[in-house]
Amino acid sequence: MEERGQRSNRRLVLVPCPFQGHITPMLNLGSLLHSEGFSIVIAHTNFNHPDPSGFPNFTFASIPDCLPKDVLSSGDAAAIFASLNTNCRGPLRQVLSDMMAKDGATENKISCVIYETLMYCAEAAAHYMKLPSMALRTSSISTQLVFSELPRLQKEGYFPSKDRSSKDPVPGAYPLRCKDLPFFTTDLEPMMQLIATILDIRTSSAILWNTADCLEQQLSDQLQKQYSVPFISLGPLHKVAPASSTSILEEETDCLLWLDKQANDSVIYVSLGSLASMDEGEFAETAWGLANSGQPFLWVVRPGSVRGSEWIELLPGGFKEAIQETGRLVRWAPQKDVLAHRAVGGFWTHCGWNSTLESISEGVPMICRPCFMDQNVNARYLCHVWRVGLELEGDLDQKEIEQAVRRLMVEEEGKEMRLRAVAFKDQIELSIRKGGSSHAAMEELVNLIISL
Ligand code: UDP
Repeated sequence: MEERGQRSNRRLVLVPCPFQGHITPMLNLGSLLHSEGFSIVIAHTNFNHPDPSGFPNFTFASIPDCLPKDVLSSGDAAAIFASLNTNCRGPLRQVLSDMMAKDGATENKISCVIYETLMYCAEAAAHYMKLPSMALRTSSISTQLVFSELPRLQKEGYFPSKDRSSKDPVPGAYPLRCKDLPFFTTDLEPMMQLIATILDIRTSSAILWNTADCLEQQLSDQLQKQYSVPFISLGPLHKVAPASSTSILEEETDCLLWLDKQANDSVIYVSLGSLASMDEGEFAETAWGLANSGQPFLWVVRPGSVRGSEWIELLPGGFKEAIQETGRLVRWAPQKDVLAHRAVGGFWTHCGWNSTLESISEGVPMICRPCFMDQNVNARYLCHVWRVGLELEGDLDQKEIEQAVRRLMVEEEGKEMRLRAVAFKDQIELSIRKGGSSHAAMEELVNLIISL
């Protein structure tokens, strides 16, 4: 086999999708492949571009994305991804062509283009330039499995769910109930078209997954039957190849000093990720539910995530005074460090796939409050299959929040969830060590790239 030291003339062009939950796993993958000796180029959009300062060993090439402001502010995911892919295809081809021209007769060459599946234009650009490509999926295999079933479920009348609270089982989609099916906040047909596009990986040579066999092996075997290319489950990538900060927003790291002062497993960490939002009423119920639970809490209120306000102006009167001793609010946290902190004993999460993996990897059980897209699917797996989470259902109500926090943080039920979460943490640690499944997957990937 080719020695690691001989690989630096093999260049891998990585194309992330420009949103936080997608950029992080791609940069982690870059770090992993760089540690295996490859040269890494990140071809990124100007919009939400990653900070190159944390990655001195990577080359960064910008693709002018020309993402129109009105499309971006519409919040219409299908329109945003359609526009991104249409606008980036030509410039990306140009970036590849310029690199190849520069390489000329030298030893250097692009070995592969690895793109996040939402940036499917990269596959087309690579194919046009006669370069091999691979797809990285940054959501769970369970999500992709249900995505592949959506056309059938739509025909059979189960999707979109007429009753978003229905607990009726969905035929052929165990363990999902109607309420667990993906929820889209925009028009259905363009979303169905987008899903069909990302499910079809066309000429790509493999699908890389940010997941681990101890979580999703059975689902991987099931979905693999629909594809002729290998599935390579490398995750959790943030554990396999921790990168320096991949955050687009500035992290308020001093919250870690506040955590240092709290007792072990006592703090509930609350965050809805980089996209979800709530209204003023939900914000007030959350505030009082947390305050009245009596548990210390660290709450991320991302600027703009409370509709109609800049940051925390809509906090109810008397709240700040009530939580002086117990609570801490931040705009954006160093989430992975927070979850790894000994003081954090629970995570109230929107169940984005990165947050899900980051919490399980640290043995932290969860209160699951999914908002849209794949989050409902992840929440169902967390609560019903892996049994490391409890679901907070219906309209947000301070009494129910208070109870959910106590169930997770204090009661027997929560302690059992924590034990199961810690067991997963141990399994994940084994899977990324030599001899583990994610480690073996990394070796498979390296060999595959060399063979292309
Ligand atoms: N995150 C963070 N600080 C915060 C909140 C979130 O660093 O205060 C990170 C988190 O660690 C995760 C990502 O943002 O890696 C969110 O991704 P996820 O897939 O969980 O949700 P999305 O934002 O895509 O809905």
